[in-house]
Amino acid sequence: VSAFWCELAWLGDAEPAAGVVIEAGGERIGSVRVGVAEPPPGAIRLAGLTLPGLANAHSHAFQRTLRGRTQRVLGGSFWTWREQMYELAATAGSDPARLEAVARATFAEMALAGISLVGEFDYLHCSDAIVRAAHDAGIRLTLIDACYLEGGIPAFRDASAEAWALRVLAIELGDRARLGAAIHSVRAVDPAGAAIVSRFARDRQLPLHAHVSEQPAEIEASLRRYGATPANALARLGAVGPDFTAVHATHLTPDERAILAGSFSCLCPTTERDLADGIGEPPGRLALGSDSNALIDLFEEARAVELDRRLGTLVRGTYDAVTLATAATANGYASLGWPEGGRIEPGALCDLVTVGLDGVRLAGTRPTDALDAVIFAGAAADVTHLCVGGRVVVAAGRHADLDVPGELAAAIAALS
Ligand SMILES: [Zn+2]
Repeated sequence: VSAFWCELAWLGDAEPAAGVVIEAGGERIGSVRVGVAEPPPGAIRLAGLTLPGLANAHSHAFQRTLRGRTQRVLGGSFWTWREQMYELAATAGSDPARLEAVARATFAEMALAGISLVGEFDYLHCSDAIVRAAHDAGIRLTLIDACYLEGGIPAFRDASAEAWALRVLAIELGDRARLGAAIHSVRAVDPAGAAIVSRFARDRQLPLHAHVSEQPAEIEASLRRYGATPANALARLGAVGPDFTAVHATHLTPDERAILAGSFSCLCPTTERDLADGIGEPPGRLALGSDSNALIDLFEEARAVELDRRLGTLVRGTYDAVTLATAATANGYASLGWPEGGRIEPGALCDLVTVGLDGVRLAGTRPTDALDAVIFAGAAADVTHLCVGGRVVVAAGRHADLDVPGELAAAIAALS
């Protein structure tokens, strides 16, 4: 049994609790006690604010390579960015060893940012490399294998939805990895294929994800192909339910918002800004993703949902810090098929992130305001500790096993 003493811990309320002792028994939290003034003997002292580990519900790890390389195009769009991404994807998809190195370094960067669980939306079909990468980086993984039948580049495409299912059934996962299914988008999968993937996921109780209405052109393509907008089309084929996550969900009609009200919406605001997608208004339970990994900082993703909304509506306060922190933790875990994670309570997974309050961004924060300060002003760089299943993966801002900047530099250079 290991124990942690948290100066402050977010247990679900607007104001954090002080002096919280969390005892781990294996992977899970055994007990939680509040109001303990001093660390008990042998407990690991966590100064600052401790939250449940963060869940990054939507990532394409290989796209980390594009950071800083797509910004000089003037008058561009999602579609001009996609040309650069396809070029990289063709290289990465044909070389699993180089892809694995980038994914390991990127997942380790996520660990340093306080992310204990990543949903890797994989349409390069390099599952072995992704599973090893997450294991080596010390974080949990939901491998969301995406069915992709049409368009894109050859490396993305499955021969059929049946071939996709056979490939997925053969995937081997380690201890801290689970499986998810995805319909890449209504652009990339035909109606019969989408129905097969939906049934496969439902029969096996897997989380099912899809890119939904990121760009207006996708809606036009869906109307031509399916005679319906994307969420309507997916609902008709059996995709939409409580285990469904609509990624982006940017350009929804009112009836689509009603259809998705019982599902998850995963917003990826820094990517949606970067690609000029638009401002989303998520229905259902909100989750968050770093998507293209142009930035890896879930505090930025969380506040962006609210701050972008303020720009669009001229109203301050649609999503409060508790709602945004829940999106970054419990909702992300549930969206990725780990409903037992994302909370600090007995029986939950012992995944914890600690944010220091003594750095230049957060010094002076009153204990009662710590959650608001972390969500609206904190940064990945303020993360000091990450614990995954009771094991300390990041301590004092350093990864336990990997030289993360060194690995990123080498892996990105090798893919360029
Ligand atoms: Zn995506």
